[in-house]
Amino acid sequence: MQTNTTSEAAPVLPGRRNLLDCDREGLKALFPDRSFRADQVFSWVFGKGVRDIGAMTNLPRDLRQELSLTHEIAYPEVVGSQVAKDRTEKLAYRLRDGAVIESVLIPEKDHWSVCVSSQVGCAMGCRFCFTATMGFRRHLTSGEIVSQVLYPIRAYPERAIRNVVFMGMGEPLLNYDNVIRAAAVITDPEGPMISKRRVTISTCGIVPALSRLALDTEVGLAVSLNAPDDETRSYIMPVNRKYPLAELISALKAYELPRRRRITVEYVLIRGINDSPSHAKRLIRLLHGLRAKVNLIPFNPWPESRLQAPDPADVLAFEDVLRDSPFTVMLRKEKGKDILAACGQLAGGARHGA
Ligand code: SF4
Repeated sequence: MQTNTTSEAAPVLPGRRNLLDCDREGLKALFPDRSFRADQVFSWVFGKGVRDIGAMTNLPRDLRQELSLTHEIAYPEVVGSQVAKDRTEKLAYRLRDGAVIESVLIPEKDHWSVCVSSQVGCAMGCRFCFTATMGFRRHLTSGEIVSQVLYPIRAYPERAIRNVVFMGMGEPLLNYDNVIRAAAVITDPEGPMISKRRVTISTCGIVPALSRLALDTEVGLAVSLNAPDDETRSYIMPVNRKYPLAELISALKAYELPRRRRITVEYVLIRGINDSPSHAKRLIRLLHGLRAKVNLIPFNPWPESRLQAPDPADVLAFEDVLRDSPFTVMLRKEKGKDILAACGQLAGGARHGA
């Protein structure tokens, strides 16, 4: 590692900030005319994961000292960890304002996935989702999102973390700029280096944001669909009243996917609401012409939830109908249910008193 002792003028800095909230462009603005300094800081913060500006040994000492006066590297505090029987681990992070969020580490065959939150709570009110019961508190900063990836990479070096899904607390596309910035950082070759093909942003269907998304990032897209008709979807997902299915499907058809990529359609099966073979047939018709694969997720009840998990026989019947369609169908094996870490079960603030 190169140590440079040459004295340099300190950059003009706009006040004390968390370096985790910066991306490459933000760092370049800190070091006008010295973009190599921005690259060095980026690599220390997001690649090597240092928490101390003083440890950036290829920056001159006086530059480090001055940078420390105006900037810091502040991770959220881990305030809880629960491990399920299947090794899924749920982490609770306390943010600087006291709010608590959760993210989930999911063991796969030969690697791990991280499910990250993008907001504290959520305003979207989906009936099958525990996070919705918290209401919306605030957006996460890009650093608060990125640190949900950086922390486990450092804390668990033996776990090969290769997938990141924006499927935790919050609607990512309502926190658009911070989510796009976070996705750029975590896929950067000098950062955590997660492949773009292995990062997925999941939305409940914020139609206006979809037209921008394909231009702003190459990571994957998942849509939480959950019903083949407006009446059922509006009942379980209020967002459908604003952006009905016809608009959503047409935006998805217009979405410019990278080659050989498909949109993931998520479908939470809820007993007696959306889980009949007739729903499955209508779903096939609705998706006609879309490059998509379908993930079926049996509903995971949470405390005081009024909805019920589907009958396993109905799940299989639904899956059978879809197998006769052009769409690849996956029945998602739910992980972490015993610690409320499965899909739709996160509500950190509600449980941790934030
Ligand atoms: S499913 Fe997603 S969009 Fe819907 S309430 Fe839960 S966190 Fe929000």
